[in-house]
Amino acid sequence: MRTRSFWAWGYEDKLPDEETRRGLVGFVEALLGFSGLAPAPLPSLEAIELAAPRAALADLPFCSTDRLARIHHTHGRSFRDVARGFAGDFRAAPDVVAVPRDEVDLAQLFERCANDDLVLVPYGGGTSVVSGIEVDEEHRRGGVVTVDLSALDRVLEVDEVSRAARIQAGARGPVLEAQLAPYGLSLRFFPQSFELSTLGGWVATRAGGHFATVYTHIDDLTESIRMLTPVGVWASRRLPASGAGPSPDRLALGSEGTLGVITEAWMKLHPRPRHRTRATVLFPDFERAVAAVRRIAQAALHPTNCRLLDAHEAGLHRVTQGEDVGKSVLVLAYESADRVIDEPMARAVAICAEEGGVAPRGISKKTDDGGADDAGAAWKQAFVEAPYLQGVLLSLGVIADTFETACTWDAFPRLHAGVTEAVHEAMRRVGGGGKLTCRFTHVYPDGPAPYYTFLVPARGDVLAAWHEIKQAACEALLAHGGTITHHHAVGRMHRPFYDRQRPAPFAAALRAAQRAVDPHGILNPGVLLPVEP
Ligand SMILES: Cc1cc2nc3c(=O)[nH]c(=O)nc-3n(C[C@H](O)[C@H](O)[C@H](O)COP(=O)(O)OP(=O)(O)OC[C@H]3O[C@@H](n4cnc5c(N)ncnc54)[C@H](O)[C@@H]3O)c2cc1C
Repeated sequence: MRTRSFWAWGYEDKLPDEETRRGLVGFVEALLGFSGLAPAPLPSLEAIELAAPRAALADLPFCSTDRLARIHHTHGRSFRDVARGFAGDFRAAPDVVAVPRDEVDLAQLFERCANDDLVLVPYGGGTSVVSGIEVDEEHRRGGVVTVDLSALDRVLEVDEVSRAARIQAGARGPVLEAQLAPYGLSLRFFPQSFELSTLGGWVATRAGGHFATVYTHIDDLTESIRMLTPVGVWASRRLPASGAGPSPDRLALGSEGTLGVITEAWMKLHPRPRHRTRATVLFPDFERAVAAVRRIAQAALHPTNCRLLDAHEAGLHRVTQGEDVGKSVLVLAYESADRVIDEPMARAVAICAEEGGVAPRGISKKTDDGGADDAGAAWKQAFVEAPYLQGVLLSLGVIADTFETACTWDAFPRLHAGVTEAVHEAMRRVGGGGKLTCRFTHVYPDGPAPYYTFLVPARGDVLAAWHEIKQAACEALLAHGGTITHHHAVGRMHRPFYDRQRPAPFAAALRAAQRAVDPHGILNPGVLLPVEP
């Protein structure tokens, strides 16, 4: 059994020890161009002061007020969460952690929360980066019950004919994939948080996976959803598609624990791919790389992976070395269980060449898993390991965070310029300057989903500094035609911006829907909509 870190991303055994962190200082300073970094002592579990729980639900055998359980369920994994965990600040701990065994337990919890004036927070893997699982102090009422769905982690049925499976909401990525493997099938949904996030969390937040085109969001893989609400079961019919009015699934997708607890879903599966085609294209010019990606997205070539890294991002991840440093990198890949997909790949690489891109190693083909070329493999490795860096960097004195959006192609140049200016300006104010990188995680015929990383030396009040940069970024996204999130969700963190983004009549309709299924207002208050007085 591996232990998850109580403050940082991932498993404790992957966090470097004191000596390794000391050794990293020089490397990080050189890589980022920062100076004066130094390892700070890591937080200790013993030192955490936890307030006494305000509720207990002691008569329910699946509920606990155990200190460790409350600590582990306090924060998600945004920078703000990691920074507070690092500072030993666990004031936001829930009062009770419930681990229901089935829907009967869940229904009991709904009833008790309504009767005892408690609020209920659905919890999948706790990887939220938008304060989705932590209730603000002023909205905690008689107490907070965090409902951890980890006991509901089975694949219940596999329909091999239709290629779909009924999967319980609490199944984490590796757990559900292991159960699908004997069938030669896979959900093929790999968000960067795959290791620890759950099916229910993905559906509740409309998560984005590794497919750069076509199946970008979990929505595209969802066949039907079963959600328990305080007024009964909300279950849709299994259908490949339907035009029968507004879809119940579409309201459940992205409901972020405010309409009910998703207990299971029928998900569309893929056969495990056997054939992979990959190419890495280098561009001296980011604008022309963007033009190439737009042309690929609009030519119906549908690559599985189409990740464009700007020169800063490629350099940071060491995807470019030597004379290639300073170039943007496009990682293109196709995967298929059926055949080698070489014609669309050849056309995509040809489009890149027309825009000045060069694929130094050409197109590689493989029939098993793994990196088919060095740059592709380096990118994949960096992708999986990157989340571990955030906590390590913080412990050395670096604020590192990401934000993401989507916009139309015509808006992208202005948005990119506006975001770059606003974030650099904020980083200058709080830390004397920092680094900003950009990549495209997903691309559509009408626009990209840009994903930004910022790194700045932590000087003074870390949370205030982070907040200033984050606000500047969010304001710039909205000002220049972006969405406040393409896949990280709304939560409490993005809610003020979502309030401005969505139409007022829609907010009223959403409020009415919440009142209808949750008449006592117990579900995840403050997410998606402001809490009513
Ligand atoms: C390092 C890192 C990498 C990430 N990479 C990606 C990425 O590539 N793509 C992406 O989309 N996101 C990513 N995220 C964000 C996060 O992993 C996703 O939002 C994910 O979908 C959350 O799943 P979870 O099971 O951890 O849910 P939690 O964090 O536990 O909960 C998230 C929200 O969903 C609600 N919820 C959870 N389970 C249920 C349920 N069964 N029923 C109803 N509501 C529920 C919660 O109340 C909360 O509002 C990343 C986060 C981190 C820290």
